[in-house]
Amino acid sequence: MTQKIVIAGSGFAGFWAAVSAMRAIALAGKTGAIEVTMVSPTPNVTIRPRLYEAVLENMNPDISSQLAAVGVHHLAGLVEQVDTASQSLVVQQADGQKITLGYDRFVLATGSRLFVPAVPGFAEYGFNVDTLESAQRLDTHLKTLTNKAETPARNSVVVVGGGLTGLESATEMPMRLRAILGSQADIRVVIVDTAPEVGAGMGTEPAAVIQQALAECGVESRAGVRVTAIDADGVTLSSGERIAANTVILAAGMRAHPLTAQIPGERDGSGRVIGDAFLRAPAAAGVFVTGDTVKAATDDCGNYNLMSCQHAMSLGRVAGHNAAAELTGLPLHPYSQPKYVTCLDLGPWGALYTEGWERQIRFTRQEGKKIKQEINTQWIYPPAPDRDALFAVANPDFVIVP
Ligand SMILES: Cc1cc2nc3c(=O)[nH]c(=O)nc-3n(C[C@H](O)[C@H](O)[C@H](O)COP(=O)(O)OP(=O)(O)OC[C@H]3O[C@@H](n4cnc5c(N)ncnc54)[C@H](O)[C@@H]3O)c2cc1C
Repeated sequence: MTQKIVIAGSGFAGFWAAVSAMRAIALAGKTGAIEVTMVSPTPNVTIRPRLYEAVLENMNPDISSQLAAVGVHHLAGLVEQVDTASQSLVVQQADGQKITLGYDRFVLATGSRLFVPAVPGFAEYGFNVDTLESAQRLDTHLKTLTNKAETPARNSVVVVGGGLTGLESATEMPMRLRAILGSQADIRVVIVDTAPEVGAGMGTEPAAVIQQALAECGVESRAGVRVTAIDADGVTLSSGERIAANTVILAAGMRAHPLTAQIPGERDGSGRVIGDAFLRAPAAAGVFVTGDTVKAATDDCGNYNLMSCQHAMSLGRVAGHNAAAELTGLPLHPYSQPKYVTCLDLGPWGALYTEGWERQIRFTRQEGKKIKQEINTQWIYPPAPDRDALFAVANPDFVIVP
């Protein structure tokens, strides 16, 4: 009887899990004996790391031809329930029907979602760049600001959260606002963070560079404060300060997809399942967790994957390989990703490229920007739909960082 691997999600982790599983099945000479099905709303990979950009083009490449090239079936729908005891899933199909799918191995690759703090007005008035739809909503809002009377609130954007997404959104914004409101408009962009200094999470030296870049881009900072309320006309800070702004962008972190709660076992503070060395969910037989849904050790020095595309692609390859390896008898491949880099886009200033968990600065300004543009336009995109080329890159040892 044909065995079944089901992968939930067609993001970076889901895509590479699917290709890697097919590669392992082919290596074991079991093509046809094991079926790989990917369940996601549509066969597309959303390029989430680019959603802060001003031009939202080619952000959702279609992967149908890549999946066809390696023999993965795509089922349009959402996994709603995971029953690890009976090894089955309830899927709400795109055509409205609910079906139950059995699996021999299940790979959870449903990613993460924006964290929305319980602050009055956050959900109603906040914009974000977490999904393509929400980035498009922000874009439409910005482009219609010209229909409003000119006021300080119309001309101002507040970015809530000084992590990487917040910084990338904020430094892009002055240029973006001027393109819409005119070069003479009196625009204002403010980034707010609870850390004692904006960028502090990146380490002392990178934080100094980030502050210089913010100043050069014309972005004001408010550090060591929280946003306590948002309404249509602005935000109130814990310091009592009121900032008038018709546009508030939330970038307060991410939480693992809610399906992680249906996988028995231990979870971290972000809701990620603690995976074993092979990315299995230790308390759920036949279940692998990958991408933003798993917390796994990247090395023997106490470092763990972040919710990042960089980690999700490797985690996907390893989880997909191991799901197939368990069914084919191939050796399992432990997850390991000792090299870690950060490439932070800082708008017209350029980009900050660091290496290692201590974030040693290697490239700044336009040198860094060149690397960021390569990452954002080449490295993270699915390759051409050629079976051999896809399999070559789906090797669980493959590392894409420079
Ligand atoms: C604005 C922004 C900037 C970023 N910048 C960077 C960066 O510079 N560098 C970096 O490394 N990372 C960056 N990231 C993080 C990175 O995008 C994520 O870590 C990465 O997308 C995680 O990949 P994933 O495959 O685990 O999940 P996702 O990419 O989130 O994919 C999840 C998939 O699951 C599908 N799905 C969801 N629910 C279900 C369901 N119930 N059933 C079936 N399918 C489902 C979705 O449709 C999607 O296909 C950024 C993220 C954002 C939002």
